[in-house]
Amino acid sequence: MPDRPDTTLPEKLNARLRFYEDLGLGPFYRDRAIASQRIAAPPSEAPGTPAPVNEEESPLRKAALKVTPALKTIVPETATRLPVLPTATVPSLFEAAGKVSDDTLLKIREDLGECTRCKLHKTRNKIVFGDGSPKADLVFIGEGPGADEDAQGLPFVGRAGKLLTQMIEAMSLERSDVYICNVVKCRPPGNRQPESDEVEKCAPFLFRQLDVLKPKVIVCLGATAAQTLLQTNRSISHFRGQWLDFRGYKMLATYHPAYLLRNPGAKGEVWKDLQKVMAELGLEVKKNKAK
Ligand code: URA
Repeated sequence: MPDRPDTTLPEKLNARLRFYEDLGLGPFYRDRAIASQRIAAPPSEAPGTPAPVNEEESPLRKAALKVTPALKTIVPETATRLPVLPTATVPSLFEAAGKVSDDTLLKIREDLGECTRCKLHKTRNKIVFGDGSPKADLVFIGEGPGADEDAQGLPFVGRAGKLLTQMIEAMSLERSDVYICNVVKCRPPGNRQPESDEVEKCAPFLFRQLDVLKPKVIVCLGATAAQTLLQTNRSISHFRGQWLDFRGYKMLATYHPAYLLRNPGAKGEVWKDLQKVMAELGLEVKKNKAK
């Protein structure tokens, strides 16, 4: 379906109401019982970002196979301890990037410069560094810019971005309260998945961003972000919705908004994941929000 921005207030309200209803939140904002009876259908396709991820084609597949032969399983979640991935035998991308003393987002942006480190620079219009509060407790990480992001230089401003904004607002937050960025900062042509060499070049900048932001919670939107942080080629379905540890940060992976646009039935699962994040951050659903 073509991307059609919601331009008028009634259209915006309708989109918001549809979104809350998809989440099963209908009853609190209006007197309708049907929404409470909705049960999210299981995803009809393998969840991924933005297209389903084929494990064979995972961007970090080669790297993961090369550096982490031990990464066969993720330790299951326990009440007392967050799962931690087995240690890689060679430095991770994070370690390889090194920690920069007195690092700042500005310094990282300057170091990135007019980047030509990978082939994505040849087709990009604008670098999409990241956007939001430098004091954010919550960071969302997507895969890579699409056409709208490439044109504007801002993350998640297209159709999937509108859905992400709705998700953030459903959490009783504003976009400006959180920080949003991507694994790769330049648009992969045709919105293909970033390739492993592109991720390897760009991920160190993401890791520096995380190290500066020091968020309480990182939410990976889709497989590419989760696989990059976890250095695994496992399908997101193995660890979606579980609390994981990424170098001391609490991290949770959920489905990418672009996947939800194709599979609205999975919104309920994502809402459950976001509620876990809300509980962790002490956030409550504002019951009169959509009135
Ligand atoms: N999809 C992403 O993963 N990131 C964006 O910024 C936009 C769409």
